[in-house]
Amino acid sequence: MDLNLSAEEREIREWVRTFVRKEIIPLEPEVLSRERRNEPGLKQKELDALRDKAKSAGFFGVPTPEEYGGMGLGAVMNALVEVELGRSFVQFKFGGEADNILYRANEEQKQRYLLPTISGERRSCFAITEPGAGSDASAIRTSAKREGDEWVINGEKTFITGGNEADFTMVFAVTDKEKGADGGITCFLVDRDQGWTSEYIDTMGEWGPASLIFDNVRVPHSAILGEEGRGFELAMKWIGKGRYLLPARALGASERLVEMGMEHARNRVTFGQPVAERQAIQWMVADSAVEIEALRWLVLSAAWQVDAGIDSRQAQSMAKLYGGVKANEIVDRVLQIHGGMGYTRELPIERWYRELRLLRIYEGTDEIQRRTIARNLLKGHSSIRGFLG
Ligand SMILES: Cc1cc2nc3c(=O)[nH]c(=O)nc-3n(C[C@H](O)[C@H](O)[C@H](O)COP(=O)(O)OP(=O)(O)OC[C@H]3O[C@@H](n4cnc5c(N)ncnc54)[C@H](O)[C@@H]3O)c2cc1C
Repeated sequence: MDLNLSAEEREIREWVRTFVRKEIIPLEPEVLSRERRNEPGLKQKELDALRDKAKSAGFFGVPTPEEYGGMGLGAVMNALVEVELGRSFVQFKFGGEADNILYRANEEQKQRYLLPTISGERRSCFAITEPGAGSDASAIRTSAKREGDEWVINGEKTFITGGNEADFTMVFAVTDKEKGADGGITCFLVDRDQGWTSEYIDTMGEWGPASLIFDNVRVPHSAILGEEGRGFELAMKWIGKGRYLLPARALGASERLVEMGMEHARNRVTFGQPVAERQAIQWMVADSAVEIEALRWLVLSAAWQVDAGIDSRQAQSMAKLYGGVKANEIVDRVLQIHGGMGYTRELPIERWYRELRLLRIYEGTDEIQRRTIARNLLKGHSSIRGFLG
């Protein structure tokens, strides 16, 4: 068994690590102060400049297949990249990516949606959640009714990431009530100018999703992504892609937070000694380090299973659950180590504290991951001995 990274993997990771250290982390004070003024952390021109710099070094479309101009890197490499990016709270992505389900598009749809999304000309959003259907996505009520060669969509979506900025959406609607999730939900590609509207939702994080309203929005039959009635599978595929990447990002954040905590503990003197000398603080550092190490291997194992073509759903749910729970515990400890300073808005810890909370909710809550993990075990789909057997 070889748990080492290849020379190429190390080289790519080193490049991203250096990029984050030299280009992203120096922006943090300015990003933080802008966010405090309710302004976007990164200006579009700064984001473009960062992406151009990365692109000129060949860093564009990390998971995007080479035939679409991307780097075509596998899941392990993608996870390693996310860990490095997660070390900063600055919301940066290299760009050049598209939603995995857009690759299911036909040729005409690829020209209209997939390619412009990869190039950054168009922005997508993924819309399944509704006010009455979140964890139980099969309970959606947005409907699409066929009229001749058109479909008429009615309903409301909520908590849609990027919903206020996107210019098209992948929206999921019931096309056959009887069949429901098993053949009765269809995914439609719908441009904003075809009639849907959006409204921003304020959250405890630094950015907010949006609600989308479909009021008799008419689209041609050709707007269907994939097959009519087979949208639920596409939705699960979309949600499934992030289950190792979200905790990978949280892993990077946790590493950086513990480094900040140790730095503070070494320098903060109480009762004549640095607090780093106190067992209470050391145990927080030790527990965090063990959990970070465990999370690293859950993430890498899930990613490795994706690359190996093994059914990785159990591993991904475990990584997502553990990452969400532990990153939240770790940021709480690091805040505690900083005492009153940790609670201020001078440091980014409270910002991370708010942002990491989301990980326990979206793309499958903790409870839903536990439900999946337990069901897989109880039904015999997975072994308690893990994938090695
Ligand atoms: C910032 C943000 C961004 C989001 N982005 C998107 C997006 O881009 N696209 C999109 O479609 N959706 C998005 N979502 C929606 C997100 O996926 C849902 O909020 C999430 O799936 C939970 O659904 P819910 O909020 O309806 O909670 P509910 O499903 O109502 O759950 C409420 C509580 O009950 C628990 N629960 C539910 N069912 C069970 C069960 N069977 N057993 C035990 N406990 C259970 C849940 O874990 C939770 O604690 C986003 C949400 C947020 C907050």
